[in-house]
Amino acid sequence: MKYHKKFRVEPGSKVRLHKVDASYKDKHEDQTTALGEIERYTRRLRELQYLLYAEGRRSLLIVLQAMDAGGKDGTINHVLGNMNPQGARVYGFKVPSAQEAAHDFLWRIHQAAPGRGEVAIFNRSHYEDVLVARVHKLVPKRVWSKRYDLINEFEHNLTMNGTRILKFYLHISAEEQLERFKQRIDDPDRHWKISESDYNERAYWDAYTEAFEDAISRCSTKHAPWYVIPANHKWFRNLAVSQIVVEALTSMKMQFPAPTVDIDEIRQRYHQAELAAQK
Ligand code: AMP
Ligand code: MG
Repeated sequence: MKYHKKFRVEPGSKVRLHKVDASYKDKHEDQTTALGEIERYTRRLRELQYLLYAEGRRSLLIVLQAMDAGGKDGTINHVLGNMNPQGARVYGFKVPSAQEAAHDFLWRIHQAAPGRGEVAIFNRSHYEDVLVARVHKLVPKRVWSKRYDLINEFEHNLTMNGTRILKFYLHISAEEQLERFKQRIDDPDRHWKISESDYNERAYWDAYTEAFEDAISRCSTKHAPWYVIPANHKWFRNLAVSQIVVEALTSMKMQFPAPTVDIDEIRQRYHQAELAAQK
């Protein structure tokens, strides 16, 4: 199954999240039959990231958004854990600092955009400025409502500069969120993840859903598509995301750069050095 086609939000279409089955797992009963496929994609991911880095001409930006406990951290661990740290970075966007808040909302985001040859993963992103900012009325409607176009222009600019953009909404159900909150309470090693805001935000589930639907619908473009990933099953989420990233990188048809030296000549010099070392 080609997940980049199945889960991509077509530009101009209207997403209805309650119509997307968060527990979808394709043909798989459970993780066991998917493991081989997951391993194959993660291995390929590493090769392709190496090629992106070696080519040094283009970059990849992965944006992750979700409700609390939606699996952003786990996805990062899975996808990035299989990349070479040289050339791959994660940025987490929190409540803006005083300095960040003194600038336009894209200021801090632009600085984190990947340079040539790099992969950047955004754990939250500029979309918070049309999500939490809208739901909690941090700015008036006349401000946030203009941000969708600004975001599209910004992302277009990055694309024109050689950045491939993939945006993932990790879709979990409200029941699954509660189950994950429970696991956090039951497991002392996860207590640090619990935040009071988890429960406050949960009370705004419907408002967030509406804000996500608008953001995804208005900002899924040809150059920077949104993918709605069924994420109740962590292993399926990993499978789908890694397959989509592999497909995108493959379609970029990257090439190793031509050597900057004459390899035959270098080979001769190597043999001379080898002979000299034997004397
Ligand atoms: P976490 O990712 O769990 O560490 O939480 C980060 C918090 O920062 C979340 O509650 C986000 O909603 C919040 N946050 C991120 N970006 C913004 C923003 N632009 N404006 C307001 N809050 C934000
Ligand atoms: Mg959190």
